[in-house]
Amino acid sequence: MKPDLHVHTTFSDGSYTPAEIVQAAKQAGLSAVAITDHDECRGYGEIMDVQDIKVCPGIELAAKYNCEVHVLGLNIDWRNQKLIRHIENAAQQRRARAKSMLKKLQAVNIDIDMEHVTDACEGDVIGRPHLAKVLVEKGHASSYKEAFLRYLAKDSCCYVPLEKINVREAAALILQAGGKPVLAHPGLLRGSAFEKLIPQLKDMGFWGIEAYHPVHSNGQCREYESIAKTHDLFVTAGSDFHGAAKPKVAIGQEQRGGRYLEESLGELGLV
Ligand code: AMP
Ligand code: FE
Ligand code: FE
Ligand code: ZN
Repeated sequence: MKPDLHVHTTFSDGSYTPAEIVQAAKQAGLSAVAITDHDECRGYGEIMDVQDIKVCPGIELAAKYNCEVHVLGLNIDWRNQKLIRHIENAAQQRRARAKSMLKKLQAVNIDIDMEHVTDACEGDVIGRPHLAKVLVEKGHASSYKEAFLRYLAKDSCCYVPLEKINVREAAALILQAGGKPVLAHPGLLRGSAFEKLIPQLKDMGFWGIEAYHPVHSNGQCREYESIAKTHDLFVTAGSDFHGAAKPKVAIGQEQRGGRYLEESLGELGLV
């Protein structure tokens, strides 16, 4: 079994369409792929009838605790009304935030029209990677990485934070849409958020932890798997594939999960 349970498409900040993701996943010999766009789940609609590979409808909600926390939702009802309302509201806030960031860029003599940004974004979910794309195209940075470092990263001059729901609300939103909430890439949490969150996950309705992710060392993967077992949670594994926005990450590259991951795949109906 070769799953990838964390993949982005053009519906958020990935550079592959859902159909291209399916092609790439098949070429990589994957057995299952979950489409988990940032604050968006409608990409699944384009590939729901695909054969030969299991496709899992998912989402990656941006939420907050003390810091930014990403919550994956797996096996969601991607047409759930309440979830769609949240997505539409989040998209509107993302548009307003992109406009504020363009104003900050203007203050450092970089003139970019909102039209350029909406052209760079094929879906509805405007994120910093779309701003990075335009900055690179217009010669203000040589790569996405440099665009983030100079202008877009949290500590850089043109950053504007995004309004987010809290982690408990994100988990509840996924649960009411019939999905399984999973704490995404815990290795990326800042400060003491992870230690504080762990004992509360089960009570918040979490189903799992993404123990296996390319930013995690082997030691971290083992630690997160052991924590998951202790707290009666399942583990998942995903590459967080984006295509152009994260050129060093290949689809399906995260394959360190073992037998405990197979149990999760059984629970998700992906075997
Ligand atoms: P946003 O949701 O608009 O705040 O953008 C967050 C997204 O930007 C993340 O999901 C990554 O895809 C991307 N990102 C964040 N930091 C960096 C970075 N330093 N270099 C490249 N991409 C990044
Ligand atoms: Fe992203
Ligand atoms: Fe994430
Ligand atoms: Zn992701």
